[in-house]
Amino acid sequence: MEQLNNNGQILEIKDLKVVYKTDLEVVEAVNGISFKIDKGKTCGLVGETGAGKTTTALSILGLLPERTGKVLDGEIIFEGRNILELPDEELRHIRGNAISMVFQDPMSALNPVYTIGDQIGEAIKIHNPELSKEDIEKRVEDMLQLVGIVPSRKVEYPHQFSGGMKQRVVIAIALCCEPDLLIADEPTTALDVTIQAQVLAMIADLRDRLGTSMLMITHDLGIVAKTCDDVCIMYAGKIVEAGTVEDIFSGNRHHPYTEGLFGSIPNLRVKSARLKPISGLMPDPTDLPVGCEFSPRCEKCMEICRTQKPDIYTEGTHKIYCHLYSGNVNNNGETVPEEEKTDE
Ligand code: SF4
Repeated sequence: MEQLNNNGQILEIKDLKVVYKTDLEVVEAVNGISFKIDKGKTCGLVGETGAGKTTTALSILGLLPERTGKVLDGEIIFEGRNILELPDEELRHIRGNAISMVFQDPMSALNPVYTIGDQIGEAIKIHNPELSKEDIEKRVEDMLQLVGIVPSRKVEYPHQFSGGMKQRVVIAIALCCEPDLLIADEPTTALDVTIQAQVLAMIADLRDRLGTSMLMITHDLGIVAKTCDDVCIMYAGKIVEAGTVEDIFSGNRHHPYTEGLFGSIPNLRVKSARLKPISGLMPDPTDLPVGCEFSPRCEKCMEICRTQKPDIYTEGTHKIYCHLYSGNVNNNGETVPEEEKTDE
């Protein structure tokens, strides 16, 4: 199954562009993003609703809505192969076997009229048709044990489980074929805070034990700090800042949107009367700004930001997509002529 490329990366996304097209409009959901996940590592994809995180995940799995969703450009290299070019049959084999997804809402991810044992067993059977009934039963019990549910509860129905226990079942289904890559789309959003901590600890433990690589989609920087090795901050279909978890949490320079995200969460070490949320709303994805996508909400917006897309500023593993650092403006916010630009 495992067929890593030379760099030890399990997934590499290159310049991915995805749109949703209807007769009336074109929604630009993902606008040329690139990132990679190393084997055994967890990459966090962070941003508010509408940033394009889930569309990215659905593109990886080939699950974009058939009529409207379209990958316009780019590559999704999984274990050395561009999965956008694979025939449906092969993609179906990869989905569930090599890549699994944990969806946001465990309540709607499970079928209410089948026992949880049947639902885990079905996933195992589809991907391992050679297994006997006894072997499948044994695997179901092992999976329940792995996610901390007593195996004897396999005969119970979803309504007999709490939200946190249901999410454990969903995770068991996602892990039952021992995927090389697990995509977790806001896996704890629908859960109580105390249960969230348990589920996150369990995911981290399973990742360490099974060596699974992970794409953690979230809007919660606390979850990123706890579970991720690398982080991509997404805004309006673009990755506006990326780096290791240290770059994002301890680096000196940040994209104004990342600063806004940090300003929106309470900090016990800093005394402040109020939190500082990011004002305004995400731009209309059918009519994105000509220049920087964040310019209508950015407190540091300069003239150039409204008319010109920024270049990417790179410092080691840390990348920021912003005119403040890309050498296009001087300290006064004036545009630097091409011949006066420096590399920094
Ligand atoms: Fe703000 Fe300009 Fe940077 Fe965009 S490019 S984030 S508007 S400073």
